Amino acid sequence: MVETGKKIRLATVWLGGCSGCHMSLLDLDEALIELLGRADLVYGPLVDTKEYPDDVDICLVEGAVTNVENLELARRIRTNTRTVVSFGDCAVTGNVTSMRNRIPISDLLNAVYHEASAPIGAEALKVLPALLKKVIPLHQAIKVDLFLPGCPPEPDRIAAVFQALVAGTEVDMPADMRTFG
Ligand code: SF4
Repeated sequence: MVETGKKIRLATVWLGGCSGCHMSLLDLDEALIELLGRADLVYGPLVDTKEYPDDVDICLVEGAVTNVENLELARRIRTNTRTVVSFGDCAVTGNVTSMRNRIPISDLLNAVYHEASAPIGAEALKVLPALLKKVIPLHQAIKVDLFLPGCPPEPDRIAAVFQALVAGTEVDMPADMRTFG
Protein backbone atom coordinates (compact mmCIF):
# COMPACT_ATOMS: atom_id res chain seq x y z
CA MET A 1 0.00 0.00 0.00
CA VAL A 2 1.26 3.45 -0.88
CA GLU A 3 1.44 5.96 1.99
CA THR A 4 -1.61 8.28 2.05
CA GLY A 5 -1.00 11.66 0.43
CA LYS A 6 2.39 10.65 -0.93
CA LYS A 7 2.90 10.65 -4.66
CA ILE A 8 3.70 7.24 -6.04
CA ARG A 9 7.09 6.71 -7.59
CA LEU A 10 6.09 4.97 -10.80
CA ALA A 11 8.40 3.38 -13.35
CA THR A 12 7.66 1.71 -16.65
CA VAL A 13 10.17 -0.48 -18.44
CA TRP A 14 10.36 -1.74 -22.01
CA LEU A 15 12.26 -5.02 -22.34
CA GLY A 16 11.71 -7.46 -25.23
CA GLY A 17 8.38 -6.22 -26.52
CA CYS A 18 6.93 -4.20 -29.37
CA SER A 19 6.00 -1.15 -27.26
CA GLY A 20 2.32 -1.91 -27.80
CA CYS A 21 1.76 -2.25 -24.05
CA HIS A 22 3.16 1.26 -23.56
CA MET A 23 0.86 2.47 -26.36
CA SER A 24 -2.07 1.00 -24.43
CA LEU A 25 -0.87 2.89 -21.36
CA LEU A 26 -0.98 6.12 -23.38
CA ASP A 27 -4.52 5.19 -24.48
CA LEU A 28 -5.68 5.77 -20.91
CA ASP A 29 -6.45 9.30 -22.16
CA GLU A 30 -8.06 11.33 -19.32
CA ALA A 31 -7.28 8.59 -16.83
CA LEU A 32 -3.60 9.08 -17.68
CA ILE A 33 -3.82 12.70 -16.54
CA GLU A 34 -5.43 11.58 -13.30
CA LEU A 35 -2.74 8.90 -12.90
CA LEU A 36 0.06 11.39 -13.36
CA GLY A 37 -1.58 13.59 -10.76
CA ARG A 38 -1.04 10.79 -8.26
CA ALA A 39 2.33 9.56 -9.46
CA ASP A 40 5.78 10.79 -10.35
CA LEU A 41 7.06 8.97 -13.42
CA VAL A 42 10.64 8.34 -12.34
CA TYR A 43 11.87 6.01 -15.08
CA GLY A 44 10.81 4.65 -18.46
CA PRO A 45 10.74 5.26 -22.21
CA LEU A 46 8.59 8.34 -21.66
CA VAL A 47 11.18 10.11 -19.47
CA ASP A 48 14.87 10.77 -19.86
CA THR A 49 16.28 9.09 -16.73
CA LYS A 50 19.19 6.83 -17.66
CA GLU A 51 19.59 4.74 -14.49
CA TYR A 52 16.79 2.78 -12.85
CA PRO A 53 16.35 4.67 -9.57
CA ASP A 54 16.07 3.55 -5.95
CA ASP A 55 12.87 3.44 -3.96
CA VAL A 56 10.31 2.85 -6.72
CA ASP A 57 6.77 2.03 -5.57
CA ILE A 58 5.31 0.42 -8.71
CA CYS A 59 6.99 -0.72 -11.91
CA LEU A 60 5.17 -1.94 -15.01
CA VAL A 61 7.51 -4.17 -17.00
CA GLU A 62 6.63 -4.68 -20.67
CA GLY A 63 8.30 -7.43 -22.67
CA ALA A 64 10.15 -10.67 -22.12
CA VAL A 65 13.73 -11.06 -20.92
CA THR A 66 15.82 -11.62 -24.04
CA ASN A 67 19.43 -10.62 -23.35
CA VAL A 68 21.94 -9.97 -20.58
CA GLU A 69 21.03 -6.27 -20.34
CA ASN A 70 17.36 -7.14 -19.83
CA LEU A 71 18.37 -9.61 -17.12
CA GLU A 72 20.54 -7.09 -15.26
CA LEU A 73 17.82 -4.46 -15.44
CA ALA A 74 15.17 -6.92 -14.25
CA ARG A 75 17.31 -7.75 -11.21
CA ARG A 76 17.84 -4.07 -10.43
CA ILE A 77 14.10 -3.46 -10.76
CA ARG A 78 13.39 -6.25 -8.27
CA THR A 79 15.88 -4.88 -5.77
CA ASN A 80 14.61 -1.29 -6.00
CA THR A 81 10.85 -1.74 -6.39
CA ARG A 82 8.05 -2.60 -3.97
CA THR A 83 5.51 -3.87 -6.54
CA VAL A 84 6.65 -5.33 -9.85
CA VAL A 85 3.88 -5.83 -12.42
CA SER A 86 4.40 -8.21 -15.33
CA PHE A 87 2.75 -6.01 -17.95
CA GLY A 88 1.34 -7.68 -21.06
CA ASP A 89 1.61 -11.13 -22.57
CA CYS A 90 5.27 -10.91 -23.60
CA ALA A 91 6.25 -10.30 -19.98
CA VAL A 92 3.72 -12.82 -18.65
CA THR A 93 4.36 -15.75 -21.04
CA GLY A 94 7.09 -14.75 -23.52
CA ASN A 95 4.38 -14.48 -26.19
CA VAL A 96 5.56 -13.12 -29.56
CA THR A 97 9.11 -12.47 -28.36
CA SER A 98 9.66 -16.09 -27.41
CA MET A 99 8.87 -17.27 -30.96
CA ARG A 100 12.59 -16.93 -31.60
CA ASN A 101 13.24 -19.78 -29.14
CA ARG A 102 12.62 -22.29 -31.93
CA ILE A 103 15.56 -20.92 -33.94
CA PRO A 104 19.19 -21.52 -32.97
CA ILE A 105 20.79 -18.17 -32.05
CA SER A 106 23.57 -18.47 -34.63
CA ASP A 107 21.02 -19.06 -37.43
CA LEU A 108 18.96 -16.13 -36.21
CA LEU A 109 21.89 -13.70 -36.11
CA ASN A 110 23.13 -14.85 -39.52
CA ALA A 111 19.71 -14.35 -41.08
CA VAL A 112 19.32 -10.82 -39.69
CA TYR A 113 22.88 -9.49 -39.82
CA HIS A 114 24.36 -11.25 -42.86
CA GLU A 115 21.86 -12.96 -45.14
CA ALA A 116 18.86 -10.63 -45.23
CA SER A 117 18.16 -8.68 -48.42
CA ALA A 118 19.02 -5.55 -46.43
CA PRO A 119 21.38 -6.95 -43.76
CA ILE A 120 21.94 -4.82 -40.68
CA GLY A 121 25.66 -5.52 -40.85
CA ALA A 122 28.14 -7.35 -38.68
CA GLU A 123 29.40 -4.10 -37.04
CA ALA A 124 26.12 -3.79 -35.17
CA LEU A 125 26.69 -7.20 -33.63
CA LYS A 126 29.71 -5.83 -31.73
CA VAL A 127 27.55 -3.47 -29.69
CA LEU A 128 24.57 -5.75 -29.17
CA PRO A 129 24.11 -7.20 -25.68
CA ALA A 130 24.51 -10.98 -25.71
CA LEU A 131 21.25 -12.81 -26.30
CA LEU A 132 20.09 -15.34 -23.71
CA LYS A 133 19.83 -18.87 -25.08
CA LYS A 134 16.08 -18.65 -24.59
CA VAL A 135 13.69 -15.75 -24.23
CA ILE A 136 12.04 -16.07 -20.82
CA PRO A 137 8.98 -14.46 -19.23
CA LEU A 138 9.72 -11.96 -16.48
CA HIS A 139 8.79 -14.25 -13.58
CA GLN A 140 11.48 -16.72 -14.64
CA ALA A 141 14.07 -13.99 -14.10
CA ILE A 142 12.74 -12.30 -10.95
CA LYS A 143 9.85 -12.58 -8.52
CA VAL A 144 6.78 -10.80 -9.85
CA ASP A 145 4.02 -9.38 -7.63
CA LEU A 146 1.18 -9.02 -10.13
CA PHE A 147 0.39 -10.19 -13.65
CA LEU A 148 -1.49 -7.96 -16.04
CA PRO A 149 -1.96 -10.07 -19.19
CA GLY A 150 -3.21 -8.97 -22.58
CA CYS A 151 -1.66 -8.21 -25.94
CA PRO A 152 -1.77 -5.43 -25.08
CA PRO A 153 -3.69 -5.10 -21.79
CA GLU A 154 -6.74 -2.91 -22.31
CA PRO A 155 -6.45 0.65 -20.96
CA ASP A 156 -9.44 0.18 -18.64
CA ARG A 157 -7.75 -2.80 -17.00
CA ILE A 158 -4.47 -0.91 -16.63
CA ALA A 159 -6.34 1.94 -14.95
CA ALA A 160 -8.23 -0.46 -12.65
CA VAL A 161 -5.05 -2.22 -11.54
CA PHE A 162 -3.25 1.05 -10.95
CA GLN A 163 -6.13 2.49 -8.94
CA ALA A 164 -6.31 -0.68 -6.84
CA LEU A 165 -2.57 -0.57 -6.17
CA VAL A 166 -2.71 3.07 -5.14
CA ALA A 167 -5.68 2.40 -2.87
CA GLY A 168 -4.01 -0.71 -1.45
CA THR A 169 -7.06 -2.77 -2.30
CA GLU A 170 -7.04 -6.33 -3.53
CA VAL A 171 -6.68 -6.75 -7.26
CA ASP A 172 -9.12 -9.35 -8.57
CA MET A 173 -6.67 -12.02 -9.61
CA PRO A 174 -6.32 -15.74 -8.84
CA ALA A 175 -4.01 -16.29 -5.87
CA ASP A 176 -1.65 -18.48 -7.87
CA MET A 177 -1.12 -15.63 -10.34
CA ARG A 178 -0.35 -13.04 -7.69
CA THR A 179 3.21 -14.03 -6.91
CA PHE A 180 4.83 -16.48 -9.20
CA GLY A 181 8.47 -17.22 -9.88
FE1 SF4 B 1 3.55 -6.02 -28.01
FE2 SF4 B 1 1.57 -7.67 -27.32
FE3 SF4 B 1 4.03 -8.11 -26.45
FE4 SF4 B 1 2.66 -6.02 -25.48
S1 SF4 B 1 2.16 -8.17 -25.19
S2 SF4 B 1 4.83 -6.03 -26.12
S3 SF4 B 1 1.48 -5.43 -27.32
S4 SF4 B 1 3.36 -8.17 -28.59
